[in-house]
Amino acid sequence: MTNKDLAELIFPNIDKTIEDYEKMYPSRNGRVVTRIAPSPTGYMHIGGMYQSLVDYIIAKNNNGIFMLRIEDTDQKREVEEAVKLIHEALDTYGLHPDEFERDGKCTGNYGPYVQSERKEIYHTFIKHLIEIGRAYPCFCTKEELDELRVMQDHKKLRTGYYGKYAKCRNLSVEEMINNIKEGKPYVIRFKSMGDFEHKFKFHDEVKGDLELSENDEDFVIMKSGDLLPTYHFAHLVDDHLMRTTYVIRGEEWLSSAPKHVELFNTFGFELPKYVHTPLIIKKEGNSIRKISKRKDPEATMSYYSDLGYPKEAVVESLMTIINSNYEEWHTQNPDKSFEEFTYNPTKMSSGGAYYDLEKLNNLSKDIISKKKASVVCEESLEWAKKHSESLKEMIERDKDYYTSILNIEREQEKPRKDIVYYSMIEDLIWYMYDDKFKSKDKEYEWKNITDIDEIKNILNTYFNDYYDENDDKDTWFNKVKELCEKLGYASNIKDYKKEPEKYKGNVADISTVIRVSVTSKSNTPDLYEILKLLGTERIKERISLIK
Ligand code: GLU
Repeated sequence: MTNKDLAELIFPNIDKTIEDYEKMYPSRNGRVVTRIAPSPTGYMHIGGMYQSLVDYIIAKNNNGIFMLRIEDTDQKREVEEAVKLIHEALDTYGLHPDEFERDGKCTGNYGPYVQSERKEIYHTFIKHLIEIGRAYPCFCTKEELDELRVMQDHKKLRTGYYGKYAKCRNLSVEEMINNIKEGKPYVIRFKSMGDFEHKFKFHDEVKGDLELSENDEDFVIMKSGDLLPTYHFAHLVDDHLMRTTYVIRGEEWLSSAPKHVELFNTFGFELPKYVHTPLIIKKEGNSIRKISKRKDPEATMSYYSDLGYPKEAVVESLMTIINSNYEEWHTQNPDKSFEEFTYNPTKMSSGGAYYDLEKLNNLSKDIISKKKASVVCEESLEWAKKHSESLKEMIERDKDYYTSILNIEREQEKPRKDIVYYSMIEDLIWYMYDDKFKSKDKEYEWKNITDIDEIKNILNTYFNDYYDENDDKDTWFNKVKELCEKLGYASNIKDYKKEPEKYKGNVADISTVIRVSVTSKSNTPDLYEILKLLGTERIKERISLIK
């Protein structure tokens, strides 16, 4: 009995060879290939988006290929719709992969791009390892493995299935074959030749040259039951056959790099470049911690789409934590797209990427303030169609009116920056809609002048004797001043401050009364524009509501 017999018994239907696959997926002649390889867990983590951006940029910088590979070998974890969410997240932020698989259709010649569809390929590679004596079936039960771990813990030994603790590696081929024939369940383990005491040089594009201990674990490469490979093995086969040149992944994988290096070496395959991206961290009080899906809503990409951040804001905020020189570059090249930035792995913080919502919010406000009102109209309508029936209805009722509201204090040197994300808009402008203004349970935010008779006196005098919707802004303001003088208020603040006792109040108080009467708010965008948009008829109706 030989290893070949064992391999044949385990994989009787595998008749292709590694060479067959090498031919099917030929070398890409040095073309840069990156891939994002998410597991479909039902949401897109901000770390996944961060890595996708790095993948995307490296591909764009080098006229390379950006692939999306779905790593669904852990089928217990798979969530329905999860794959769709991954595609949607990439699409939303404009990171369109060059090669991917959607609804069973492959774009690209190196597919399938879904791991569960690549079983036969993995089995071919595993069969080869068994034939050359570098993989074997392990029959240890969960209880035996638990016992081993407890014993190792107890004796303060390094835990794991290695060296003399790797019981099944010493079974004879006959014993293995008999066990299989008896129907004993098994997994396939890699047979390591490494020495943990021995260090080797490993280059990480972010962390530089490292010294790592060799792998000596006989780790599982194929599970029992669904016979799917583990991540360690699947990524080797896929990244080799897909001709990936950069493996960009979270730094939590760095500790298993020795396993991957040993696998690549065993097959004699060229190692890809590794870019281990830092964890995304955030401040909490005085300490800094890893961003977590459980504690931080902003860890999940749906947070940004639910609130309606413009996609450029999210991308920009992630770019600033990808490379420390990005912000400077962006300031110098304000009109260039992030894709034109040259990514440099050594400018990636190796200690953790500090993500700050405050910063995102500032970026977002700035970006929205620079957009044309018509663009904000369309983008917020897109958002509302998915997230807010009420805003959608407001916009669709009269798009021009909505756009004019958005246009107040826009397209000027210092545009108004009050919108952080689109879900805020309704709260900022509802008072411009008569039905909402009438029905809303609102509080009039009167300030210094609160006496209703005085308020009515000011409003009646102003709207009957002074206000004319055709006035230009200067004339309009001069008339407000005239009104002040007529009613005993200071028409400028300086005069008022000099001799406050001489006046009932000042021009700011008068403006506030006018502002609050038509909006209920004491703080709004430009009052002149608001009055103009409302028009005299609607203003009068609003004033009649004040009791
Ligand atoms: N499926 C792995 C993950 O989601 C991918 C790691 C990699 O990119 O190689 O973490």
